[in-house]
Amino acid sequence: MMIWKVGVAAGLLGILLMSFTVHMNGTLLDFRQLAIIIAAMYGGVYSSLVAAIMILAMRLFAFGEVTISTVIAASNTILIALTVGAICYQAYSYRKKWLYSILICNLYTALVFMINVGEQSVIPIVSYVVMMSIGGLLTAYLVDFLNKANVQFKRNEKEATVDFLTGLSNNRSFDAKFQSLLHTAAAKGECLSIALIDIDFFKKVNDTYGHVNGDVVLKQMGFILKETARAFDTVSRNGGEEFSVILYDTPHEHALGIAEKMRQAVNKHSFELTDGTSLHVSVSIGVATFPYTNREQLMEQADEALYKAKANGRNQVCSNQKVLVLSP
Ligand code: GH3
Ligand code: MG
Ligand code: MG
Repeated sequence: MMIWKVGVAAGLLGILLMSFTVHMNGTLLDFRQLAIIIAAMYGGVYSSLVAAIMILAMRLFAFGEVTISTVIAASNTILIALTVGAICYQAYSYRKKWLYSILICNLYTALVFMINVGEQSVIPIVSYVVMMSIGGLLTAYLVDFLNKANVQFKRNEKEATVDFLTGLSNNRSFDAKFQSLLHTAAAKGECLSIALIDIDFFKKVNDTYGHVNGDVVLKQMGFILKETARAFDTVSRNGGEEFSVILYDTPHEHALGIAEKMRQAVNKHSFELTDGTSLHVSVSIGVATFPYTNREQLMEQADEALYKAKANGRNQVCSNQKVLVLSP
């Protein structure tokens, strides 16, 4: 799919570049071969061939009659697509691939000019080589720049939404997801539960085993919560040692059951510290459910339930509705 897309896009670019063709001493000068190099660089030889065939089809359509010169120029385009395609499969650096590709274009095309217009070919050859070399190097630089900018953009986008320590959603993406799911739940008349999870006495873990081991516990905690949640639940680290799970279309009692499963999974888990020591920690969880609790108060009520779980002795799940406590 990617190969076709790159090929077709480059083919269109080549056709566009052909519309800026310069006529010189009975021959044609343009940048269409740059499109073929780009196709080869990002899609390999099949993409460069697709681009070349599109360019040839357009050339035939635009100029109609087929002469021996047209056939030679067409063979040149195909040959360039094949050679440049092959160059791109080698383990050369990006810069070398472009340099060799430009060299091939210059060499083959100079030959074609010599065959097609004989001694009149000197000026077109010099013009083509200068044009192709400058245009090629500029294109190489620009395409590389855009590619790197795109990679950086994707990385920034990921870092803006993912918690770097646990790989879970961070607070920002939690917020966006929470608001959008609440909106959907309200529109469809469905319910939505939220579980706020806080590690018990986590400060003691840091104080006793060090901050690095605290991070190790956080990482493993993220893993356990993600494993215990259902695939469609949104598990986030909301900051510090506080996590949350958005339970979509999940009634209150069911949400309490899932939260209890999480609490037990954490309880059972033996956290492996950097020196091989194993440690047991517990979590307190507060659960609230929309629409029993209205949208504006949902987080606050879940937080209140969590506070209740802490106050009742920790290592338990509490609800914001009635006095419902699931004890160990
Ligand atoms: P409680 O049972 O009441 O929740 O007690 P606690 O000790 O877990 O709660 P407290 O809020 O007093 O302490 C939270 C600690 O979490 C304090 C802080 O040093 C630690 N912490 C916050 N973020 C990080 C982090 O990213 N890495 C590590 N290692 N520790 C963190
Ligand atoms: Mg806390
Ligand atoms: Mg805590």
